[in-house]
Amino acid sequence: MKGICILGATGSIGVSTLDVAARHPNRYRVVALTANNNIDLLYDQCIVHRPGYVVVVDEDKAKQFAERIATSPVSDIKVLSGAESLQQVATLDSVDSVMAAIVGAAGLLPTLAAAKAGKTVLLANKEALVMSGDIFMKAVSESGAHLLPIDSEHNAIFQCMPADYCAGQEAKEARRILLTASGGPFRTKPVEELVDVTPDQAVAHPNWDMGRKISVDSATMMNKGLELIEACLLFNMSPDKIQVVIHPQSVIHSMVDYVDGTVLAQMGNPDMRIPIAHAMAWPERFDSGAAPLNIFDVKHMDFEQPDLQRFPCLRLAIEAVEAGGIMPAVLNAANEIAVAAFLDEKVRFTDIPFIIERSMCQFEADPADTLDIVLAADSKAREVAERIVEELKH
Ligand code: NDP
Ligand code: MG
Repeated sequence: MKGICILGATGSIGVSTLDVAARHPNRYRVVALTANNNIDLLYDQCIVHRPGYVVVVDEDKAKQFAERIATSPVSDIKVLSGAESLQQVATLDSVDSVMAAIVGAAGLLPTLAAAKAGKTVLLANKEALVMSGDIFMKAVSESGAHLLPIDSEHNAIFQCMPADYCAGQEAKEARRILLTASGGPFRTKPVEELVDVTPDQAVAHPNWDMGRKISVDSATMMNKGLELIEACLLFNMSPDKIQVVIHPQSVIHSMVDYVDGTVLAQMGNPDMRIPIAHAMAWPERFDSGAAPLNIFDVKHMDFEQPDLQRFPCLRLAIEAVEAGGIMPAVLNAANEIAVAAFLDEKVRFTDIPFIIERSMCQFEADPADTLDIVLAADSKAREVAERIVEELKH
């Protein structure tokens, strides 16, 4: 029986993780759940899954939540608040696995704490890895933590690696990774119309049902850029060995091209419970609840080169990873600010790459040797990007 802590339990990945965990009550016990402020959903989750601990980051919401729990049938749950408590629950002795499913940079410190404590880290929160890069991978190798990718592409690549492969190792026989991308909702939209797209149009992903931030990232293809950086780190490969492939049907979730000419692909329905269940059951397998792939529904599979003119965010991510140092953290921070401003209707969709590029121009790719350096770059890049948002608003 393993104890699991779900960071970001109330999000899209968190909900799917609880669905998988509930299918395997003899394998997983829910030790801790965390949310930022969605206490209504968190309450329902507590009634069903009865964790020992919850964290509500927002202090006021945490107070309200504690009052509600005190008079509930699950009054023995310990309610904590504040961002520091995330690290506390991610490193509890009774926790074996940590699902890192907070969105954005807010997930970095608890995910890193879990890695340092030698927990099995189920990594959905790609922004944490993109920001901290080698620091994170070093923490994993020093503590002996298992790092299992949840992002569907990286989970697919992991599944196509040799059976004894561990994240961070060099896979010598693998000569290339083919990182698939759906191309998002605007793959075929005339480029001149992108300036007018609304947040609702941008979050309407054709194949996947996800949180709002990652859905916008998919529409700009920044998601694929972040994933390219994530793949370089997880699979110890240089960016020139990772080819982004547009595959609109999202049936193949990525491929590994081996030196003998073999290409291994992982396929399945676009249901995040599949990579979640893979990582939770690893090195075994168990039921995910996802429908089996009906191969006869797959009429054909298309593969295209990505268009970097249409998707400048992908180009910026490639530039950031090639520059190295703090640049991926700068890219990520500027993107988080730009996407939030777009979702708040302060800037246009096409302003997103503009804000990121102008922010990146303000930085040199200084070495990212310590966490303090990374956090300082993150906060400075947020300030720079916020200023650009303010200029664009007027
Ligand atoms: P959601 O927006 O659906 O959920 C985000 C979760 O993080 C919620 O539980 C939210 O709490 C919590 N949260 C938000 N801000 C903070 C904060 N400042 N401090 C603490 N907790 C916070 O996101 P997704 O589930 O879609 O994505 C989560 C991560 O997984 C992202 O990094 C994404 O890139 C990655 N991922 C997601 C995929 C998907 O299919 N959704 C696929 C591959 C990767 P609350 O609900 O209270 O706001
Ligand atoms: Mg993905």
